[in-house]
Amino acid sequence: MADRNRSRRRKKKSAKKLGVILLLELLLLIIIAGSYYIISKNKKDDNNNTGKIVDNTQDNKDNKDKTDKKDNDDKEEEELTPAEQEALKEQEKLLQEITEREDLIKEANMLKLSYDYDKAIDKIKTYKGIEGGYELYPALLTAINDLQAEKDSLVLYGGSYSSVMQFNHIFFHSLVADNSKAFDGDYDAKGYNMYMTTTYEFEKMMQSMYEDGYVLVSVHDLAKQITDENGKTKFVAGEIYLPAGKKPFVLSQDDVNYYDYMDGDGFASRIVIGEDGKPTCEMILDDGSLVRGAFDIVPILDAFVEEHPDFSYRGAKGILALTGYEGSLGYRTDDPTSPTYEQDKETVKEVARVLKEGGWEFASHSYNHRDMREKSFDFIKKDTIRWQEEVGSLVGDTDILIFPYGTDIESTMGHYSSDKYAFLKEAGFNYYHGVDSKPWMHLKDDYVRMTRRPLDGQAMLEYPERLQDLFNLEEIIDPERPSKDW
Ligand SMILES: [Zn+2]
Repeated sequence: MADRNRSRRRKKKSAKKLGVILLLELLLLIIIAGSYYIISKNKKDDNNNTGKIVDNTQDNKDNKDKTDKKDNDDKEEEELTPAEQEALKEQEKLLQEITEREDLIKEANMLKLSYDYDKAIDKIKTYKGIEGGYELYPALLTAINDLQAEKDSLVLYGGSYSSVMQFNHIFFHSLVADNSKAFDGDYDAKGYNMYMTTTYEFEKMMQSMYEDGYVLVSVHDLAKQITDENGKTKFVAGEIYLPAGKKPFVLSQDDVNYYDYMDGDGFASRIVIGEDGKPTCEMILDDGSLVRGAFDIVPILDAFVEEHPDFSYRGAKGILALTGYEGSLGYRTDDPTSPTYEQDKETVKEVARVLKEGGWEFASHSYNHRDMREKSFDFIKKDTIRWQEEVGSLVGDTDILIFPYGTDIESTMGHYSSDKYAFLKEAGFNYYHGVDSKPWMHLKDDYVRMTRRPLDGQAMLEYPERLQDLFNLEEIIDPERPSKDW
């Protein structure tokens, strides 16, 4: 209706000079359509070439569009009547809206790739054009129908599992980035051979798991805290819907602290934010110089998920478990006498913010990395409070606890009942993770207890049969890894 009235008004106004105006409009339309074709083609190219940088590029491009348009307006203004200008503006707006709708569908399809169908559909439904809401635009309706049809074809846990209890949770330590330094036969080479995985092996594992249909999920999607009709909170299994054949799994990495003992042994030295705004690693070379690159899990997995967004459910990556006794993420934020103490704390906050934005979560791995079953209640209380004050204050609060050495606070197969648990629950921890060779999980009203499978040298060389369900180890094991030497 609004549109019809508008066009009637326009006809009346321009009746006298109809011929001239029509000719002018036609010419302008051709010019604008031409420039939009070029711009939207450029935009498409940009979207194809870059990942996260797209946002910035688009902003710049939008600003440039505005300037270009302004230039055009300036040139034509002398010759156009107000009516003509109004008509021109309307045409511009219509063309701009077409591009907006195309971009909106592209954004929704990106969300769909990581299985967030609801967000994708909601995104399109927020659209408001000159004509009105999304329901007036056939392209948007088609996009919504396609998304809905795909969503309806999803199955619970990809049909691969009947319960979240069957999900795998795999974990790693810092990756060996330079084999010649880690496996050099010195006193700690054996430990690295047992407990570490190389970047070569990690990449092979992720590729193999991706090809097998595995999909990264967050423990917070695997089990959710809900409030029932009586106002009581409890943890329930998450409803993760995936295409048939997909297999949800959780990934974590312990001791992402880059300890002093690893210096010079071929590991990253800390996580930094690269010039492209993405997290990456720094490594110290023998001559003391620094190099940046994908020397550990974070940048390797980020790049892999960027290339294969369907490897991640709603953008989930992994859990980074930190101790506190040598700071966080490679920064010695435990030492107030360090000349870079204040600056390092700010850097860790910023790195943690970027990591969380990219789908990473943080866990406490305790402050001092001591056996939590053996240690006293008082020790655990002090240790936990110190972690929260020195590490949690930088990376943010967390409700995930990853036990040092994988040793649970209790050996019970029933419900936790110790004063240690009561304290840890009070301190905010809901997800408790030990280590086992197979998936194992307890889902209780007040907590989630889930073991994790190590994918380290010991598992690959000493217990290869335990990993048979996950990999063909012949394709995974780094040819540069020493054979079992412990
Ligand atoms: Zn540890």
